Amino acid sequence: MIWAQQTGDRHLFFDHMLLTGGFARDVRLTIRGGVLAAIEAGVAAQSGDERHGCGLPGMPNLHSHAFQRGMAGLAERRGPSGDSFWTWREVMYRFLDRMTPSDVRAVAALAYMEMLEGGFTRVGEFHYLHHGFGGRPYADLAEMSHAIAAAAGESGIALTLLPVLYSYSGFGAQPPQPAQMRFVMDIDRYGRLVEAADAAIRDLPDAIVGVAPHSLRAVSPEQLGALADLGAGRPIHIHIAEQVKEVADCLAWSGQRPVEWLLNHAPVDGRWCVVHATHMTSDEIVALAKTGAIAGLCPITEANLGDGLFPAETFLTARGRFGVGSDSNVLIDASEELRLLEYGQRLLHRGRNMLAGGEGRSTGADLYTAAVDGGATALGAASGLAVGAPADIVSLDIGHPSLAGKSGDALLDAYIFAAGRSAIDGVWRCGEQFVSGGRHRKRQKIVADYVATLGRLTA
Ligand code: ZN
Repeated sequence: MIWAQQTGDRHLFFDHMLLTGGFARDVRLTIRGGVLAAIEAGVAAQSGDERHGCGLPGMPNLHSHAFQRGMAGLAERRGPSGDSFWTWREVMYRFLDRMTPSDVRAVAALAYMEMLEGGFTRVGEFHYLHHGFGGRPYADLAEMSHAIAAAAGESGIALTLLPVLYSYSGFGAQPPQPAQMRFVMDIDRYGRLVEAADAAIRDLPDAIVGVAPHSLRAVSPEQLGALADLGAGRPIHIHIAEQVKEVADCLAWSGQRPVEWLLNHAPVDGRWCVVHATHMTSDEIVALAKTGAIAGLCPITEANLGDGLFPAETFLTARGRFGVGSDSNVLIDASEELRLLEYGQRLLHRGRNMLAGGEGRSTGADLYTAAVDGGATALGAASGLAVGAPADIVSLDIGHPSLAGKSGDALLDAYIFAAGRSAIDGVWRCGEQFVSGGRHRKRQKIVADYVATLGRLTA
């Protein structure tokens, strides 16, 4: 499906554009049916071309729990003692417990709109809120998947839907807690859910369904094996080693650490996205990098939750691949995810330009291009701006003061380290412009729906 009346060729012209081989000047795109039909660099604009400043491939957002956007700011008050990921999770469970499918749709639509405004053009929705109140399944197992798909359709973002298998509350198949009953299912029902999710996304342009075992604590080894088979040809995402307690529990259960256990027991390769992987030994870092799996990094959320720092410098030195995700959606901004990823390493190692690929290289450009490539791979999508790829583009306003006088890679350094999302001008999906002047064309309606929904949920 293509959204609009996209008949005939359209032409966009960019003074600067990041193509798959690097920055080029004076780039004229021909868009046909939402896809890049031709890319010409070093040419003159023609009359009728839409002209823009600096074009970038849209950033994939490889890890989102859209409904959590509704609780942004609600878990920042200090509790009686020892606030942590686990106390945050209690707040999150209480919040989601009241949500209906239409609430999820309204909150997800806001999150997805903000993702487009924040430089993301595809989202990997790690979707585990499946059932109705008390854990009663909806008549259509994919009722919540339909809500997610509707929100993606309303916002225009590309969707990689990752229905999550969640069966247990802890390592060794511990029974689920009452607060987890809206997530829980067995592997047979999960197989049916994946089929129903395929149907739920059918009308969205270039949407994909992957599979997602929630974590080693929420699925059994047998389920993980069955799911790797079930997911043949699909992206596979799993949370791993986010918390120190999770590492200790995994060691107590198996004698191995989570990443170590996963690499010893599952066929991890470039189809896999391991989300967080924060706590690894040096052996695990090198072994994970060798598999070609994508490390799914969510620096804003990991900082917000106090998870710890992913060993990015060591992982990239070992040629590991990564992408970024907005995860809890407490703040949605592609440039800030990359900035915080680099700044965490600077603070840890007391150095600068820690994640640039070598002497003379631009940190911003290396981070951006690596995250586009890794994110697209993790989400099963085409990477970057090349002929045949969807015209998923973010433009920066080269009139922004932070971008003044810059060209080439320096534009990305200025965008990521100085301007941030305030430099974003336009965002296109399949050649159709959803964001202009930094604002989504449906902002007013999506915000109104969200505000009304939050009013009910927090009453
Ligand atoms: Zn997550």
